[in-house]
Amino acid sequence: MKPDTPLERTRMTMPSVGEFFSSTGILAHAGGLRFEYRPGQLQMALRIEKALIEGTHLVVEAGTGTGKTLAYIYPALRFSMITGRRIILSTGTKSLQEQLFYKDVPFLESILGPLNICYMKGRSNYLCRQKLQDVPTASLSGAEALHFKIIQDWAETTGTGDRAEIAALPEKSTLWGRIDARTDACSGKDCAHFLDCCVSEMRRRAAESNLVIINHHLFFTDLEIKMKAPDAAILPSAAAVVFDEAHELEQIASDCFGVAVSNRRVEDLVWDIRKGTSDADRRAEVSKVAGTVVERFALFWAAMPGKKEPARIVFDGRPEFVVERNEIYSGVLTALQLLHSVLKSIALDDESVSSLVQRTSHLFAELRFLVESTSDSAVFWIERRMSGHGNTLNTFIQATPIDVSEILAVSVFETYDTTILTSATLAVQKGFAHIRKALGIAEAEELIVPSLFDYPKQAILYVPKDIPDPRDDGFFESAKAHIAEVLRICQGRAFCLFTSYDMMQKMHLKTSCRTRCFCMGP
Ligand code: SF4
Repeated sequence: MKPDTPLERTRMTMPSVGEFFSSTGILAHAGGLRFEYRPGQLQMALRIEKALIEGTHLVVEAGTGTGKTLAYIYPALRFSMITGRRIILSTGTKSLQEQLFYKDVPFLESILGPLNICYMKGRSNYLCRQKLQDVPTASLSGAEALHFKIIQDWAETTGTGDRAEIAALPEKSTLWGRIDARTDACSGKDCAHFLDCCVSEMRRRAAESNLVIINHHLFFTDLEIKMKAPDAAILPSAAAVVFDEAHELEQIASDCFGVAVSNRRVEDLVWDIRKGTSDADRRAEVSKVAGTVVERFALFWAAMPGKKEPARIVFDGRPEFVVERNEIYSGVLTALQLLHSVLKSIALDDESVSSLVQRTSHLFAELRFLVESTSDSAVFWIERRMSGHGNTLNTFIQATPIDVSEILAVSVFETYDTTILTSATLAVQKGFAHIRKALGIAEAEELIVPSLFDYPKQAILYVPKDIPDPRDDGFFESAKAHIAEVLRICQGRAFCLFTSYDMMQKMHLKTSCRTRCFCMGP
């Protein structure tokens, strides 16, 4: 029988989940150890397909070696191609997001032919063409002027606007933060570049895809934006969401649903206000008031408790802070109020200033919440971090909600028919009560797929007792000696993972002279 409809064609060209993963199926014949038949993978894929069809939530712990990424991509893809309903795949880390898009998807395409799957990043990864056009080039430093030229040339040819395409732009470029497409300064449909906007283009691609690959941070940021301004959200609607690395969901949701005010946020606002006021007479007035905001905030950040070094501390004693530092704190609030009223009067004649009025009023309200709130449903922090280019200490005041379960229950688990939560480590005492309570999942199917590995026979646990703190000078030599010892015990069959690229390269140089080591990194 010849297929008449796209639906029938999909059914005929895409093997069933059972056929795809079975011991005699396509995967088993795909070649290479990675794709050998794994019963746990088949079991997981079938349960995911069932959850998608029945519209239920599913929590799966899949031990190492299950091959879980294919176990959810294939049933999700098949379901989407048959029903025409899109599915979002969300990961905790960028590296897994890249693995899905640059390894798993091409592998599936080598078997199934071209697929409709896209990869979305947060808005700050994309170029804002309007901001690029508005950059006051006279104010750029030498390095920034060079970066501006690189970006300008690239902007004429890029189809995506994704900064990852510009290899020549240093990671630490200070210019990118001024011209990226983050929501704050976006005028949306009113923008002259709306039609060739990189974010709009990304949205269009996502809206035409069967699967959209994102990370949890983008998922929750988008959810938060949707609650406040549905038009500014970027993720398309979807029938289901698959959360891999689901053990990170609670922490990432807490961070995204929190409130934060930082010196960077104030600087960005002042920058946008200074360049966003077109009336020359009013510009001088605004610049003066904005200057007062900058000066008062400088005193405020200096008065924050804690040492002026990178660290995160609980913001204890906030009522005392308000009393003891009242002059400085009130000074900031008064300056913000004045800025707000000047902008508001300009907005009467110039609508484009309205978003700046709104941002100033949000900053004012959120600062008051962070300093004065007596809420016991959040933890209040002060965090100091070095900037990307390593020469500025940025200060953040943050409130992180203690419990995100109510927000997630309504906005995720009651909104989507199906969510799949998976990770290699989700269960506590072989059950999921803990994660379900933390995330607000009232009902869900559950599955534990044991690891293929025999850990008691195939692994060792080695905890060095005398290793110095990683910030100490002696850390490197000590870590090197311990790694050499582990490599000796394992006869070299080890995988050494580093959080710092420099440390990885240094360690490779020092250890590879005695052991054959392969070094892999970005
Ligand atoms: S629509 Fe927004 S992000 Fe896009 S170019 Fe315009 S201001 Fe920038």
